[in-house]
Amino acid sequence: MGDVWGDTDDTYRNPGCSICGKIPTRALPIRRHVGMIVLHQFVKVNAPLCRTHGVETTSAFLKKTLVQGWWGLISVFVNAFVVVSDLVVLRRYHGLSAPERRQRVANGESTEDWLYDPFKRFHYRWFGSEGWTDKVATNGFVSSDPPGWR
Ligand SMILES: [Zn+2]
Repeated sequence: MGDVWGDTDDTYRNPGCSICGKIPTRALPIRRHVGMIVLHQFVKVNAPLCRTHGVETTSAFLKKTLVQGWWGLISVFVNAFVVVSDLVVLRRYHGLSAPERRQRVANGESTEDWLYDPFKRFHYRWFGSEGWTDKVATNGFVSSDPPGWR
């Protein structure tokens, strides 16, 4: 059953893919590296994603890394690791079966709810019947923000 729910523990509350809510998902570490002359910066996403969004996010990160990652001497080595790591992740996402909408109602209870914002820009994000929505809330203040990583 591992691949049906991905690498997350909480099967009952698992809302599926972090972007569309479909299953199956896998949570694989997608990395992005920004090289600078003396410093460098890492961005790492580790959230359950379906095949479509796993491939999409990994490809987008790879493209950015290939442009921004090479600056600085240490960065060349670090970046090679990040690129190889993302290529492995990309392969694994391609290996998932096609995303499907999961059973929305478990034990007669709807899965639509305010859940912690998986993109971490707000406290909560509304998980609707079609997946993550742009409805977000912080300290009780509701606003709008399109789902997805930037
Ligand atoms: Zn998805």
